[in-house]
Amino acid sequence: MSDKIFSVAIDGPAGAGKSTIAKSLSKKLGVIYVDTGAMYRAMALYLLREGVDMEDAAAISAKCQDADITIRFVDGTQQVILNGENVSGLIRTEQVSNMASRSSVNPDVRKKLVELQHALAQKESLVMDGRDIGTVVLPDAQVKIYLTASSAVRAKRRYEELIAKGEQADLAQIEADIIERDHRDMTREISPLKQAEDAVLVDTSDMTIEEVEAKLCSIVNEKVG
Ligand code: C5P
Repeated sequence: MSDKIFSVAIDGPAGAGKSTIAKSLSKKLGVIYVDTGAMYRAMALYLLREGVDMEDAAAISAKCQDADITIRFVDGTQQVILNGENVSGLIRTEQVSNMASRSSVNPDVRKKLVELQHALAQKESLVMDGRDIGTVVLPDAQVKIYLTASSAVRAKRRYEELIAKGEQADLAQIEADIIERDHRDMTREISPLKQAEDAVLVDTSDMTIEEVEAKLCSIVNEKVG
């Protein structure tokens, strides 16, 4: 691996396996992993707590300025800090997921978080995942990957995750939520989810995690050697 700072950008829809793969890839490469979805989730949690009406764009634009969101790494794991509080354990609920996909359409929310993401990538090599990393946040990333899978497969993975945690889950409802979030993410005006022209497409529908890991390692080796 060269001594120069490099970035690996991984984009794709919810449940494609981005965070699992980005985490293991970053370990292999010995660089940090930045989960940008967690930042949008922390912002959504803040707006939920403040009781902001999601249809009120002006209120979101104003309120988001009071949310100080940063990240820190403890034993290599990212923690999201919202106004001094570690909220990493509070942002994985369906309520926060749905709110994050709504509040992330707001240009002021995006501006604030993209600045933070950009600053992180200037400082050190990293693997960053999200929806607009290869297209908007790090258009010059050395490696760009677009990770996807069918909505049925993504819903099943999420369902199994919840069941394994002993939680209640409704497969049909999960798939409907995923399709709705995909639609919002892909059709929003600013930074919609789409494959960057120079990104490598990896469809994980019929792949095991090990196969996806091997595929991504070979792509990274090819690009950054
Ligand atoms: O990746 P994750 O599901 O945690 O992201 C939560 C939501 O945050 C997404 O549905 C998307 O609307 C938003 N997001 C975004 N841009 C990113 C990362 C996430 O708009 N770079």
